[in-house]
Amino acid sequence: MTTRSETRTALDHLLTEIEHRNPAQPEFHQAAHEVLETLAPVLAARPEYAEPGLVERLVEPERQVIFRVPWQDDQGRVHVNRGFRVEFNSALGPYKGGLRFHPSVNLGVIKFLGFEQIFKNALTGLGIGGGKGGSDFDPHGRSDAEVMRFCQSFMTELYRHIGEHTDVPAGDIGVGGREIGYLFGQYRRITNRWEAGVLTGKGAGWGGSLIRPEATGYGNVLFAAAMLRERGEDLEGQTAVVSGSGNVAIYTIEKLTALGANAVTCSDSSGYVVDEKGIDLDLLKQIKEVERGRVDSYAERRGSSARFVPGGSVWDVPADLALPSATQNELDENDAATLIRNGVKAVSEGANMPATPEAVHLLQQAGVAFGPGKAANAGGVAVSALEMAQNHARTSWTAERVEEELADIMTNIHTTCHETAERYDAPGDYVTGANIAGFERVADAMLAQGVI
Ligand code: GLU
Repeated sequence: MTTRSETRTALDHLLTEIEHRNPAQPEFHQAAHEVLETLAPVLAARPEYAEPGLVERLVEPERQVIFRVPWQDDQGRVHVNRGFRVEFNSALGPYKGGLRFHPSVNLGVIKFLGFEQIFKNALTGLGIGGGKGGSDFDPHGRSDAEVMRFCQSFMTELYRHIGEHTDVPAGDIGVGGREIGYLFGQYRRITNRWEAGVLTGKGAGWGGSLIRPEATGYGNVLFAAAMLRERGEDLEGQTAVVSGSGNVAIYTIEKLTALGANAVTCSDSSGYVVDEKGIDLDLLKQIKEVERGRVDSYAERRGSSARFVPGGSVWDVPADLALPSATQNELDENDAATLIRNGVKAVSEGANMPATPEAVHLLQQAGVAFGPGKAANAGGVAVSALEMAQNHARTSWTAERVEEELADIMTNIHTTCHETAERYDAPGDYVTGANIAGFERVADAMLAQGVI
């Protein structure tokens, strides 16, 4: 019988090996630490999972593709970006996960996202494996024509690796409806197939699911509400700080407002906006989705209730709830300390890994309900899987039906994480609950399918 401490030592060795074998990938190391550090109890309790090679296989992607993406700007100059697709684990279904276009993208970032995606996708209860991709291309300030040429060049390589039964990309930071459209067009042209299920996040008129754009933000608010309910509270009248101003932030604010909370902030890399009356979503959507502008112009146009704070941290604004919805490591231990001082009750991650490990530790120590991204933001990929189901059936569901399914999935994820944490002596610890529950599902499938 292996003890928890023996298991912990074995996991520590594995973590050291991961750092040696994957140099200069700090985000991947962080994600691996975050998961593996919580697995000791389940590996000790269930010897079949401690089988040599199981966790070692889980941390090694099944396939990693890196490729050149040359494209010409509007002046005819040639640019060369790097494209990635990491196909991490397909034990539960075709690889599934978004594409991120952002200058910070490198192999380590895509591996951290792909690794997280394995457990997130498992938690949805749907048949999807984990993968992620993207490029260091920066779409900001690029014309539609430039973005189209980039997407076409990216897909000219990517198409040979993906397919509705193989690997199904979607959006992430820098990849929204416009980019998915250009990518799908090029895939269709190269393959001469109408293969709707090869990409998700498509337009509603050509195979996209209703509620997919809203799903990540809506789902995160539902998860936060479930955590509050556990403590005998609800969203009504709570003040919320939200970071980011992309798709996740916008629909987080929309759902918070619909459920009676007051969402008072949004942000981008230039600073943040605080609006005492609550963010005016029509104005924010106009600026971000139509004009592709910056949040400072929100404050200029909104009037006296709003101000723009250049630089600065959105976490300085006092609130009951915090929903980080921008990017990884945007909420550190100083921010966590400020939130705690200001009486925050719950933090729920709309982005992937936005809170640093030190921040998570501090929040949990202070008794703040903490929803990790792989559980709290799983609504997006869950509705992607529903989009795949609609595509296979050549049908489309009403918005009401998709929203009901999303609500059920989020409730189930919350219950699963909560119960799993209790089962492993970590009541209220959603990080442990999410990691172990996701791990159990993937590990069972891997064991059943043999050493591959
Ligand atoms: N990029 C999103 C995520 O982080 C969505 C992925 C998808 O829909 O496949 O989960």
